[in-house]
Amino acid sequence: MSTSVLEPKAHSTSQKHTPTMHAAVVEEFGKPLVLREWDIPNAGAGQIVVKTEACGVCHTDIHAANGDWPLKPKPPFIPGHEAIGIVTAVGAGVTIVKEGDRVGVPWLYSACGHCEYCLTAWETVCPDAKFGGYTQNGGFAEYILADPNYVAHIPKGLSAVEAAPLICAGITTYKGIKQTGAKPGQWLAVSGCGGLGHLAIQYAKAMGLLVCAVDIDDAKLALARKLGADLTFNAKTADPATELKKQTAGGAHGVLITAPSLIAFKQGIGMTRKHGTCALVGLPPGDFPVPLFDVVANCITIRGSFVGTREDMAEALDFAVRGKVKADIELQPLSEINNIFKRLEDGDVAARVVLEFAGDRPAPDRRQDEDEACADTGND
Ligand code: NAD
Ligand code: ZN
Ligand code: ZN
Repeated sequence: MSTSVLEPKAHSTSQKHTPTMHAAVVEEFGKPLVLREWDIPNAGAGQIVVKTEACGVCHTDIHAANGDWPLKPKPPFIPGHEAIGIVTAVGAGVTIVKEGDRVGVPWLYSACGHCEYCLTAWETVCPDAKFGGYTQNGGFAEYILADPNYVAHIPKGLSAVEAAPLICAGITTYKGIKQTGAKPGQWLAVSGCGGLGHLAIQYAKAMGLLVCAVDIDDAKLALARKLGADLTFNAKTADPATELKKQTAGGAHGVLITAPSLIAFKQGIGMTRKHGTCALVGLPPGDFPVPLFDVVANCITIRGSFVGTREDMAEALDFAVRGKVKADIELQPLSEINNIFKRLEDGDVAARVVLEFAGDRPAPDRRQDEDEACADTGND
């Protein structure tokens, strides 16, 4: 057991006490997370317990903590859906994983397995799907209960901190790119080059696409170029649709909007080439106006894309095993979570923060050297 797990308190009575763990908990929407003790879960039949090694911090965790979306989680709950850890207990009937396996507990926590969507590899839209760190407690805690049928199997050769961002930001952008239908040699525009976007650029290059990266922060665009982006635009200083159409003779065949900003959605449709596809991935609360004439008259497809299936997960991880994709990570302890949220909201995170659970230490800045991160992408 981790030294940072609080042991059951010693009492003179024979009363049994449940061992507890450290967790960061949403107790009230819109308020800072509360660092507190939480009972360590037990594995019931068909369940497993995972001891967390690392958990990425996704912008979705902020939407969750703010109660931004129509489907709301019920406080108190533990966010975090990029959790990687070691299986420490398996419940009755579990055969697909065993104690000691390294697994990831993703956003798609479980699904029914029998509905029309599950049967056609659209388990992400199963009406009975459960969501990690949202409708189920997630990885901002030292232990997580998981459904062994839906965990990610982390290949040997990937460490926990390396794998964490891949099980949401990675799979989501990989799947989203596929959903645009853009083919090798064609243009993909990536709007938003943060946690999701910096991985999207790498997947797209590895898939043979030309990439235009759009952000409102020059530092993000500099990272995008290091990761292989062929064109970059700062949407604050130029209209990306006009610029992109000029430089690509008509716009991007596929557009992937990851920015948590409604303005980016209108711009994204403007960047889409005739007969192209604009995949909506970012999830800021609210609606945006669709320029109907442009979409209809140019035969543009607008489609939502939501995480990915278990097969997408295996494929997305494989790109990393082959050295084609590597998340640029900054390691922090769980105790820093409220600061990390603030920095993410302020656009002050270079790419992805990953919480590391090898003891809750103070938080020196241990972001990987950018050059090192870029050197391994194979995209130079
Ligand atoms: P992030 O904060 O790490 O990155 C967001 C990036 O967008 C930043 O680089 C920021 O500078 C940039 N940005 C902000 N406004 C912009 C604008 N107007 N134009 C261009 N770029 C802009 O966030 P993240 O973790 O990458 O998540 C992004 C969004 O994706 C969130 O809304 C999150 O909820 C959503 N998400 C969706 C899915 C899905 O399955 N569809 C999965 C994961 C995350
Ligand atoms: Zn996420
Ligand atoms: Zn189903």
